[in-house]
Amino acid sequence: MKIGLVDTHCHLTDRAFNNDRGEVIERAREAGVTNIVAVGGGGPIEHSEAAAELALRYPFLRATAGIHPHDARNYDDRAEARIEALLERPEVVAAGETGLDYYYDNSPRDVQREVLARHLALAKRHDVPVVLHCRDAESDLREVIEAERPDGLTGVVHCFTGTYEDASWYLDHGLLVSFTGILTYKRSDDLRAVAGRLPLESVMVETDAPYLTPEPRKPRRNEPAFVTRVADTLAEVHKTSREHVIEATGTNAERLFFS
Ligand SMILES: [Zn+2]
Ligand SMILES: [Zn+2]
Repeated sequence: MKIGLVDTHCHLTDRAFNNDRGEVIERAREAGVTNIVAVGGGGPIEHSEAAAELALRYPFLRATAGIHPHDARNYDDRAEARIEALLERPEVVAAGETGLDYYYDNSPRDVQREVLARHLALAKRHDVPVVLHCRDAESDLREVIEAERPDGLTGVVHCFTGTYEDASWYLDHGLLVSFTGILTYKRSDDLRAVAGRLPLESVMVETDAPYLTPEPRKPRRNEPAFVTRVADTLAEVHKTSREHVIEATGTNAERLFFS
């Protein structure tokens, strides 16, 4: 199986796809997407279990297991036991998405930090990468990582929108960063400048579907097929071909999620 263009982060178990999930996956394949990572996290733990079931059904798909920072207040020992059981399965390849979201503050910040720390410990125990989400919480995220994983870790900071210095810190700590459709938005000149400076050996592309539809922002619901638009923008800012971007980012995705 040759890994090419990968949507490294989408919420395929979201109810937005309940009526046409199969067609959505089909369209992604037709658009040239060779592989998909269906993230758990986002809603209750059942979403991670559903993602694992999808990964069983489609050999080119992998799942992750975790509790999103929005829902950190619902994390308990029972949820953790279910994540652990999922991480035992070969088709479940990472812990998350986890992290900190101080923009929405849907869960108390101290609870978010504690649950992030638990995910980092889980990832270490099961020797899997972590999928990290960070919004308006960069310094706290770094602090938790440094406290919990002083020897470094593997994983990705998904939906990256930070500065070059933020990205450099993550890369120095063993993480990759990945870009969503935000990279294509008119207002994202600064982000495109950052993306252009980062080596393709350290970045990936994703949709975060059903959210963050790339330009042109139609239809409103995002889907994995549209990751092509993120790859094209990354190729533009690197003044290289789509093929080169696919090759480089696909190699990164393969190493992290499909090896
Ligand atoms: Zn996220
Ligand atoms: Zn997500």
